[in-house]
Amino acid sequence: MDVELKGLTKRFDDVVAVDRLDLEINKGEFLVLLGPSGCGKTTALRMIAGLEVIDEGELFIGGRRVNDVLPKYRDVAMVFQSYALYPHMTVRGNIGYPLKLRGIRDPEREEAVRKAAQQVQLEELLDRYPRQLSGGQRQRVALARAIIRHPRVFLMDEPLSNLDAKLRGQMRAELKHLQQELGVTTIYVTHDQIEAMTLASRVAVMNAGVLHQIDTPKNIYNDPANLFVAGFMGSPSMNLISGEVQDKTFQAPGCHYPSPTSEPGKKLVLGVRPEDTQIVSEGEHHLEGIIYSVELTGDQTLVTVKQGEQLITIREDKEFSASINESARIRMTTGRVFFFESESGRRINAT
Ligand code: ATP
Repeated sequence: MDVELKGLTKRFDDVVAVDRLDLEINKGEFLVLLGPSGCGKTTALRMIAGLEVIDEGELFIGGRRVNDVLPKYRDVAMVFQSYALYPHMTVRGNIGYPLKLRGIRDPEREEAVRKAAQQVQLEELLDRYPRQLSGGQRQRVALARAIIRHPRVFLMDEPLSNLDAKLRGQMRAELKHLQQELGVTTIYVTHDQIEAMTLASRVAVMNAGVLHQIDTPKNIYNDPANLFVAGFMGSPSMNLISGEVQDKTFQAPGCHYPSPTSEPGKKLVLGVRPEDTQIVSEGEHHLEGIIYSVELTGDQTLVTVKQGEQLITIREDKEFSASINESARIRMTTGRVFFFESESGRRINAT
């Protein structure tokens, strides 16, 4: 194991930013800390980096307890959203700076700079200054400056969020490729669940300082532990319908489905993903409403159906057509319907 967090806790006055966080991160793993703004993911990363004092718990890097070790002796390299480049230094100077601090001279330093620049496709730009670079190129410089240190662990805090959508997608693929090639353990913070799905070998989902689930992206998507994780992971989001159990059936306005519990009056939330619902003209259906909008996104059609105040998203193929205000019947795919206790958010059925 490369990095281990045992009950890591951080408080700011009366806010518990990180609450007894336990994580075990394997060597070479790409772990993504995912959660909404304010959930404590940056604070957790900063504790690992040594930029924030740990109030309680223990942190091990490479088997060594580092609670009281200065950041520069933790063998980690951090990449920030803001890039944090030195404006008065060229790309060469920025990338080589960590080695300069270690007293490594040319030609060894120049060779290392060249190699790191090559890994992020910056060889042609070594003599430029940061102001002469695009956002994506600046981010590459920041990455190269982390790579050149050969750290045990990369710590990345939303490194792609200042880039436009297209470049972000491209850099995401490059980052994933690079991380696998280098095999360096990486802990990556983001609130973007698409980034988490695509980059991570495992995702740790946090909310309000608490870890809710840690697993592969696929398992988190297909088998969410609770209501928070179910609603957070996936785009478009999972449909969540509040109702209660009557006659062994989950019932909500316009909606019924066999209930996993027979307790009368029990308040539940039914969850079903847009791709696990289908508009049907005949046969069994579980939900009725009226078509509210139909959006062709290119390779698929997103249909929104309204039932009372509830909007339900359905993913249909690109050939689908329907008129607004038409009535619609929806069938949910057996085995892909989740139930959660309304009060605790706990998942109560297996799939
Ligand atoms: P974001 O994505 O917005 O950066 P985050 O999930 O990374 O959010 P943190 O920055 O870790 O969240 O913050 C967690 C909680 O701790 C928040 O409630 C925040 O307001 C609080 N917090 C963070 N840093 C400080 C600080 N220096 N002083 C006081 N409160 C802080």
